[in-house]
Amino acid sequence: MDKALTQKIIDRLASAQHPVLLAHIRPDGDAFGSVLGLAHILKERGQNPTCYIEGGMIPMYRFLPGADLVQDLPSQLPEKSDCLIALDTSTRERLGQKTLSWPQPIDIVIDHHISNPGYGKLNLIVPEIPATGGVLFEIFQQAAWKITPAAATCLYTGLTTDTGSFRYRGTDAHTLHAAATLVELGADPSEIAKQCYLSITHERHALRRLVSDTISIKDNKKSAFLTILPDFYKKSGAKSEDTEGIIEDVFSIQGVEVGSLFEFMPDGGLRVSLRSKGKVDVNSIASSFGGGGHKAAAGIRFAKDAEKNRDLVLTAITQALSKP
Ligand code: 5GP
Ligand code: MN
Repeated sequence: MDKALTQKIIDRLASAQHPVLLAHIRPDGDAFGSVLGLAHILKERGQNPTCYIEGGMIPMYRFLPGADLVQDLPSQLPEKSDCLIALDTSTRERLGQKTLSWPQPIDIVIDHHISNPGYGKLNLIVPEIPATGGVLFEIFQQAAWKITPAAATCLYTGLTTDTGSFRYRGTDAHTLHAAATLVELGADPSEIAKQCYLSITHERHALRRLVSDTISIKDNKKSAFLTILPDFYKKSGAKSEDTEGIIEDVFSIQGVEVGSLFEFMPDGGLRVSLRSKGKVDVNSIASSFGGGGHKAAAGIRFAKDAEKNRDLVLTAITQALSKP
């Protein structure tokens, strides 16, 4: 990690009285964990952070210490806001529609998405670290800021969820050392695992069953895809946030190199999730359609022509798999 740049970010963070912490739409464990992890540290230092994420907190991550600090995006920021920090968010747009009309620029971007163009005044983007929670951990270590048990729990949650429980590529000795240190500082691995992986709601489970039934296997059994139709939510009682992790069902099949999930939106749009076991770079597929993410996990959003775009993405996957 770039020490000089990290120091600039530490200095800027330290000087803010009313920092505003932001993360991406459709937030996951790393989005909530990063925002709350940083909020705990800044509060401990006597600063007054505010946390905004589109839609506010979701039930699954309510176990995180300080969960009530997360608020839905306001149309305008409080005037006293003196430093905007975007966490875990690969593009400016993914901070949420409402943020686009805010006049204040983004001061600091802290992220691990390789596709992040760096839309802040200071940008620390570290693709070698598999979660933004891990990037924050390094920043706090360099700053010698005390990591409280609450902050450790939040950062650990980011690490475990973004690495698929320390299974994905990108999990290395460094990741595990960071996780071990966070456990020493007060994160409880089995309690966090219980909350993140063993507490699926009945509605989420019902949605999973509907989606599992749509499986289609192709490309000589090297790829598989799932489909979510708009009426699945009504049938299951689940919400859009309940799709997190569903793609793992196809991706876990032996020999399947690329897994994809196509969600047909009620407005005619299409949301795509892509996962790769390593042979195919799904970030480059997603980027060619205007999306992004990482080599092993990426996404795209199309505003219209859902079926046509799904077919184009499936063709791109076939082509990528046929390369020697
Ligand atoms: P997921 O499939 O879990 O929604 O997203 C996988 C990864 O791709 C995440 O790291 C996420 O930030 C990124 N991603 C998902 N959708 C989009 C998108 O529409 N645009 C960009 N740039 N990245 C995305
Ligand atoms: Mn992340």
